[in-house]
Amino acid sequence: MIKALFRFWFVVPILLLVVAMQVGMGLVVADNAAAVPTATATLRPTFTSTPFPTATPTSTLPPSPTSTPVVPTPTRATSTPRPTPTLAPSSPTMTLSPTNLPLSAVTPTSPAIESVPTNPSPPTATAVPAAPPVQISRPTGVFHVPILMYHYLSTPPADADAIRMDLSVPPDLFESHLAYLRDAGYQSLSFQQLADITSRGEALPPKPIIITFDDGYRDSYQYAFPLLQKYGFTATFFIFTQPIDTANVNFLSWDMVREMHQAGMEFGSHSHTHPDLRRRTNEFLHSEIVTSKQLIEQNIGEPIYAFAYPSGLYDDAAIDMVKSAGFLMAVTTEWGGRHSYDRRFLMPRVRIRGNDTAAMLAEKLKIVE
Ligand SMILES: [Zn+2]
Repeated sequence: MIKALFRFWFVVPILLLVVAMQVGMGLVVADNAAAVPTATATLRPTFTSTPFPTATPTSTLPPSPTSTPVVPTPTRATSTPRPTPTLAPSSPTMTLSPTNLPLSAVTPTSPAIESVPTNPSPPTATAVPAAPPVQISRPTGVFHVPILMYHYLSTPPADADAIRMDLSVPPDLFESHLAYLRDAGYQSLSFQQLADITSRGEALPPKPIIITFDDGYRDSYQYAFPLLQKYGFTATFFIFTQPIDTANVNFLSWDMVREMHQAGMEFGSHSHTHPDLRRRTNEFLHSEIVTSKQLIEQNIGEPIYAFAYPSGLYDDAAIDMVKSAGFLMAVTTEWGGRHSYDRRFLMPRVRIRGNDTAAMLAEKLKIVE
């Protein structure tokens, strides 16, 4: 099952191109077809040697108000790949069972509680309901990779509120987490590695894990980065780019981002200003998602592949913009450790709370599915 996963990702954009040529559809298909170089380039094992394969297609998204047909309806129709029976003969056809789809149904915690200094009013609404089961031919399979979610990696200030306390893991506690993960035999992956492995149909490491940090606070560089290196782990840092681009001292600098990236850390986009992405125009979504992607890629000199919805909030239009921007995956703040091709833009994570001990981390990794 694992080997089948993602093996035919490249088929979908290629088919879209074929459909666009044959049917001569309008903006919707044209924009998707423009993303073909992105998907095909990033699925090749050698894509890291090609400069900016994902940077250029995003500029084809028209900025004018007439570009709204990029996401034609508020339904889930565009968030699932088109049927590809003719070009994917070895792809199994199956009816996805309901148990494969609502991966977020096991959420033991409330999603999307997050506070960011530049966005003082965190939304509280819940996520979009999962899509109903559909019958379609495409790669399938479910694989298990816990994605740990951290925010602040520092001792919170004395006057910190409950949310800040909950989002702050002190460095010594984080070090105990890393010691546990190392001793338990976990191997960290990046989203880029995950895409490479699954697209080649290879097996994942025995105990894979992805460590993520949201927001790009400066303590990611001060504390998380050296501790990760000390224990031989990599992590993915989902950064929102406006505070970095305006040299906000509470956040990473571009020099820090480049240094961490050159040392093997991965970067993903967390938007530009960390807004609630729901019920937004395509122009707004484009400015947040594509701007952030381009800024990061310009600064690290390589494409990025993963997106994290700010505060875990999204709707169908946001998902579609993340797809058309050239990302391969996106993560939420919902609870879970199982992932599939069909849910690759709604990957759940394992929230690590401010007072989680190594034993509690071990327990979370034990129960997460
Ligand atoms: Zn955030």
